[in-house]
Amino acid sequence: MVDLDPGTDGNAAPLCPSCGVTALPGSALGLPVDFACDNAGCPAVGERVR
Ligand SMILES: [Zn+2]
Repeated sequence: MVDLDPGTDGNAAPLCPSCGVTALPGSALGLPVDFACDNAGCPAVGERVR
């Protein structure tokens, strides 16, 4: 599990519009997107977030 805190590096990740959880980089999820939701309880999990 990759844990990225947007408050520590100044490079804030976007928030998922469906669940409000911080999105993870697609590279960390194996997805061809910039950022994607990684909340398993979210209807938009795995979908692109920007
Ligand atoms: Zn989500």
